[in-house]
Amino acid sequence: MIKLGPGAVIGILGGGQLGRMLAMAAAQLGYHTHIYCPDERNPAEQVTDRLSRNCYTDEAALIKFAKQVDVVTYEFENIPVASVEILRQHVPVFPSADVLRVSQDRLQEKDFLNDIGIDTAPYKAVSTEIEAQEALKIIGFPAVLKTRRLGYDGKGQAIVKNSEELPKAWAKLNSHEIIIEAFIPFDMEISVLAARGQDGDIKCFDPAENIHKNHILDLSIAPARITPERRQQAVAIARKIVAELDYVGVLAVEFFVSSAAPIFRVNEIAPRVHNSGHWSIEACPTSQFEQHIRAICGLPLGDTSLYGRAEMKNLIGDDIHDMDLYLKDPDANFHHYGKKHARPGRKMGHVTRILPTVK
Ligand code: AMP
Repeated sequence: MIKLGPGAVIGILGGGQLGRMLAMAAAQLGYHTHIYCPDERNPAEQVTDRLSRNCYTDEAALIKFAKQVDVVTYEFENIPVASVEILRQHVPVFPSADVLRVSQDRLQEKDFLNDIGIDTAPYKAVSTEIEAQEALKIIGFPAVLKTRRLGYDGKGQAIVKNSEELPKAWAKLNSHEIIIEAFIPFDMEISVLAARGQDGDIKCFDPAENIHKNHILDLSIAPARITPERRQQAVAIARKIVAELDYVGVLAVEFFVSSAAPIFRVNEIAPRVHNSGHWSIEACPTSQFEQHIRAICGLPLGDTSLYGRAEMKNLIGDDIHDMDLYLKDPDANFHHYGKKHARPGRKMGHVTRILPTVK
């Protein structure tokens, strides 16, 4: 176990809003942060002690960075595994390269979940359009085609309702690493943020109900409006995943919830803090960001109970221009990510409200 005290330097790969909020949580606990990212003017830059602007495949820059920090973590999961392998020869990296490998590939991810007895949508990996036609005979319609790698917020996906729609979907995805999933007619989407410490202690946040608009998270409500028993079941699944992965840090588990069995199917896991857990900053004694910092530094995990019902609204694109309205609202906890240009679909900030009753 690696225990780092305040004053240590936490290296974070990625400079987006998740890196920004991780750096702020690290500072609260007395740690320094060093952000490593390729792009300019990123949200984390404003709040970090140090910054390395290099690409993720620059071996010399990675080694230099590794020697300047005491532990490395990441805020997005598309870091090349090879880069993490280089870093871990010089400095501890949490979560591990093995976890990254599983979560970067939808096929490995689903195989892992099914191997440990957790339900997902039925799926099949294919590499040609002919294989896809055959797979669709087994999976049935509607089905969702997804690229195995690099998909997010509905990108790299296409729904096919019948076999005539396949050629267009296949051309759109333009990849030979495709997974075909059955379309799940879910009642609700939820996520559980689970944290596991280096000592194996696990603490989960209450499941959040997630509502999307144009494939982007719009609203997260915690706790999710399902029965307390169902919430416990979802948490038990998330606990199992982090335990089986020997995970260190915060991991998000996204579920489809249906009324018919299986009630819970895991859609995907993200080995990092997650947009659907931002409410934890104000709604819990320990936020997801602080929890992640605690886990990777070998500190005890904190309490995750809710002070009340929490609602987090993402501010996408021009939504950010309503800033004054939120600032005048006594219940709104407003967050601006410091991005200069409000492009459509861009996550610019969020607002959390806490209502006093948790039912
Ligand atoms: P993903 O990129 O896998 O998180 O998918 C983005 C969104 O597409 C999910 O949040 C769901 O709303 C929808 N979706 C993805 N896969 C399925 C599926 N197999 N059945 C129904 N909806 C899906």
